[in-house]
Amino acid sequence: MYTKLLKLTAAAAAITMLSACSSDIPPAKPNIPDEDASDFVALSEAVPDAILEIRYYSTYNFVGERIDGYEEPCALITKEAAEALKGASQEAEEKGYRLKIYDAYRPQTAVNNFIEWAENDNTDMKEYFYPELDKSVLFDQGYIADKSGHSRGSTVDLTLFDMDTGKDVDMGGTFDYFGKLSHPDYTGELTEEQINNRNILRDIMLNNGFKPLDTEWWHFTLENEPYPDTYFDFPVSEDSVAAQ
Ligand SMILES: [Zn+2]
Repeated sequence: MYTKLLKLTAAAAAITMLSACSSDIPPAKPNIPDEDASDFVALSEAVPDAILEIRYYSTYNFVGERIDGYEEPCALITKEAAEALKGASQEAEEKGYRLKIYDAYRPQTAVNNFIEWAENDNTDMKEYFYPELDKSVLFDQGYIADKSGHSRGSTVDLTLFDMDTGKDVDMGGTFDYFGKLSHPDYTGELTEEQINNRNILRDIMLNNGFKPLDTEWWHFTLENEPYPDTYFDFPVSEDSVAAQ
């Protein structure tokens, strides 16, 4: 009898723990129209200490032109990812860095622009971003895809800016470099300091609820992202989130 009671108590405790655990994980939100920016914020308002260097608004990117859908040099992101990024920014500052953001939410229109580029003969930026690869393999090898996690709104590309030196931290390879050098665990010709720097960024992001990607040291997605199945397509512009 006593044993049975114990078992029952243990089962009840397990159920309580289970429900406590599951309530910690926010449920994924249902699909909303892909032009609905109501759950997004301007990253610069949510994380004012982050530095923005929006490469797809500039011409310094692998295409060599401003990318469709980038109407302003700003970054938009879901409220949930912004909250997590705020924690990452605080941790970075405690360690002497600021976050430098290259990209966050990326409209499907921009991804379509990448696909068009992958199929045309523009190789203007080859020497900077894909010197080792023929452009024709970028799609097949997964460097360019017809959908991007960034369009779901909870992914960010970033590096660290060193507040002492006033320079970007040396990660031993540039953002958007197509090659093994970009794999976070690549050790090839990287120095110990460069490997260590990648680990500092990775630790900061993982400590604050993001998960890494095994092919790009700069790319992190919020665990339990709120819109795992929605590929948004409103422009990158403060106006997109201004009415809220
Ligand atoms: Zn990315």
